[in-house]
Amino acid sequence: MIIVCKNTAPQAKIDKLVKELEAQGLQTHCSTGALSTIIGIVGDTSKLDIEALQAIDIAENVQRVSEPYKLVNRKFHTDDTVVDVNGTKIGGGYFGVIAGPCSIESEEQIVGCAKSVKAAGANFLRGGAFKPRTSPYAFRGLKARGLELLLTAKKETGLPIVTELMGLEHLDLFNDVDVIQIGARNMQNFEMLAELGHCNKPILLKRGLANTIEEWLMSAEYIMSGGNNNVILCERGIRTFETATRNTFDVSAAPLIHKLTHLPIVMDPSHATGKSWLIKPLAKASVSAGADGLMIEVHPNPEKALCDGAQSVTPEAFADIMDDVKMLCHFEHKMF
Ligand code: PEP
Ligand code: MN
Repeated sequence: MIIVCKNTAPQAKIDKLVKELEAQGLQTHCSTGALSTIIGIVGDTSKLDIEALQAIDIAENVQRVSEPYKLVNRKFHTDDTVVDVNGTKIGGGYFGVIAGPCSIESEEQIVGCAKSVKAAGANFLRGGAFKPRTSPYAFRGLKARGLELLLTAKKETGLPIVTELMGLEHLDLFNDVDVIQIGARNMQNFEMLAELGHCNKPILLKRGLANTIEEWLMSAEYIMSGGNNNVILCERGIRTFETATRNTFDVSAAPLIHKLTHLPIVMDPSHATGKSWLIKPLAKASVSAGADGLMIEVHPNPEKALCDGAQSVTPEAFADIMDDVKMLCHFEHKMF
């Protein structure tokens, strides 16, 4: 981090600031020019509050030269993190396919869907019981009953289950859930992220609708700083000016995330595009871009789905997508 001091800054105040920074275990290097002094700070600056430094009266400008996240940073943890969900792995060469309906609607629907996605090669079942909906009048999920039905499908198929937690008050219901999804809208629910840092379950952290990669990684840092290292990132598209798709799929997130962090990333072309016919090409693009997995919405009858039907593929279409995904995984040397 670099602090450029104002040209009017008295030397005594610069010396005091340097002492305070060094008292925090940081090293400083000052270079005094004709117009101003620049303080270079070396060490773990992740805990320094840049806004507080900017507020210091002698500071003209404060800039980070390294990332504000530490635990998720690839620089301090060079090996890929492999998230092990009771034997089913994602990351570090292991490819995970998470599939199922947007919302759990009935036993027949979720169990039937679980069997067909498993037969096609999915290794996780996902279904929503608590659904974040823009309209309060839309179907908001079967809630606790939905979780019971999801557990029935887990028992029948043996597939580990992924489902969204929308509020910490429901956490007690999630004991038998294998992976907790934090949806786009809760990506910056910091109280929730901090609490999930203390829970011993893998977290699927979706990217917020309008969040930068750095903000997303800071949210992962919240979870990891509580002691939970099992974080899987999920790119689900971001808001742009484009209206032809529901969101804009940021396929560059996959290689970028791999460069910046050791955490695995799965791609969700369903929410990114909102269109079932776009899932196959973008699932293929995701594998080629190096993603560690996919999340795809599958419904036995998309036309009748209570949520996100237009972006849901049929079990038959899912099986067809999986044929190509398996081939591409083989080409990319992914274990699947
Ligand atoms: C979902 O996964 O069904 C969902 C609502 O996704 P997102 O949080 O990405 O909008
Ligand atoms: Mn959905």
